[in-house]
Amino acid sequence: MILIEGAAGAPSIPGLITDPADPMLRVTACTGAPGCPQALIATRSLARRLAPGLGTHLHVSGCAKGCAHPGPAPLTLVGRADGTVDLIRNGTAADLPSRTGLAPASLTALPALLTETDHAP
Ligand code: SF4
Repeated sequence: MILIEGAAGAPSIPGLITDPADPMLRVTACTGAPGCPQALIATRSLARRLAPGLGTHLHVSGCAKGCAHPGPAPLTLVGRADGTVDLIRNGTAADLPSRTGLAPASLTALPALLTETDHAP
């Protein structure tokens, strides 16, 4: 977050969030692929797609290191080597997932997958 004095009325800058209700403020994502050699998925594009359907904070991590948000989050998605993601509830990117192998496209099409209650295996 930055403060730009006298910026009121200035032309908008693509990607700059100026609305405190912007859904992008509900997501945190690391660099992800292709910027990070450790990344197993493209984190930022997935976070952008999911942000509008979220009711809570989501952390999207390219791997279990969780660089962008080391602490727990209500929802965390962690990339897997096969391009799918694991879902961790109320934990960090390194914690045990409650759902594994979710296709990123399924999360975009069915955001309820992020809010539904998990069932015991
Ligand atoms: S969490 Fe993993 S993929 Fe994301 S920036 Fe850190 S090392 Fe790279």
